Amino acid sequence: MTVLEVRNLKKSFGSIRAVQDINFAVKAGEVFTIIGPNGAGKTTTLEMIEGLVTPDHGDIFFGELNWNHHANTIKKKIGVQPQSSAMFDLLTPEENLNLFATFYDQARSTEEILQLINLTDHRHNQTKKLSGGQRQRLAIGLAMISDPEIIFLDEPTTGLDPQARRNIWDIILQLKEIGKTTILTTHYMEEAEKLSDRVCIVDQGKVITLDTPSALIEKLTKEREVRLSF
Ligand code: ATP
Repeated sequence: MTVLEVRNLKKSFGSIRAVQDINFAVKAGEVFTIIGPNGAGKTTTLEMIEGLVTPDHGDIFFGELNWNHHANTIKKKIGVQPQSSAMFDLLTPEENLNLFATFYDQARSTEEILQLINLTDHRHNQTKKLSGGQRQRLAIGLAMISDPEIIFLDEPTTGLDPQARRNIWDIILQLKEIGKTTILTTHYMEEAEKLSDRVCIVDQGKVITLDTPSALIEKLTKEREVRLSF
C-alpha cells in the first residue's frame, strides 16, 4: 500500500534550482532512503513533504489526501525529527519529551520513548551534557511523541562516530519492527544499504535511480564493469 506519493516536485531559490523534478511513491512499513551528494536537493525534498517549504510545482499525497487540502489531517500522521536547537538544553531528556508532549497529542508514553531511544539511563541528565548521538536519539524520540505513522529523519547520523551511528540504525530498525514507515536522507551508501527497503538516488534535484539496495548495487557494479572494459 502506498502511504506517500510525490509527483513532479519542483523548487527554486532565486536562480538555484534545488529540486527540478522529483517523483516517487513510498510503501507502508518501509524504510525509504533518499541519498545523494551535497546540494542534491534531499533536504528541500523532505521539507516540502513535511510541509515546511512550499513547492513551486507538483503534488504531495499521503494516501488519498493531498497536502494542499488536508494539511491538518496529514500533520497528525507524520513525525518530524526537530532541529537540535529546538531542544531545551537545560532540561533533561525526560523533561524535553514531556514538554513536547504538551505541544502535540501524546500517544506514546515518555517511558516507552525513553526505552525506544535507549536514553532511560540518561533521563535525568541535562540535555546539554548528552553526546551528539544521544541528542540525535532524543530528536528521534521527540518525533515519536504523537506516535506518527510516518517518520522523517534528515541525515540523523551525519557527524557521528561509528558506534553512535549504529545506535541510530538500531532505532530505525526498531521503528520498522513496530510498523512505522521511515523516510531517511543520508550521504552514506553503507547506511542506505543496511537499513533501506528501497533507495532513491538524487542528484541536481532529480531522481537518478530508485530500487532495492541489492538491485542498485548490482546495477552500479555492472555499469562499472562496462566502463572498465573500454
Ligand atoms: P546536503 O546533503 O548538503 O544537506 P541536500 O541534498 O540536502 O544537501 P538541499 O539542502 O536540498 O540539498 O539544497 C539543494 C540546493 O538548494 C543547494 O544548492 C542549496 O544551497 C540550495 N538551497 C537550499 N535551501 C535554500 C534556501 N533556503 N535558500 C537558498 N538556497 C537554498
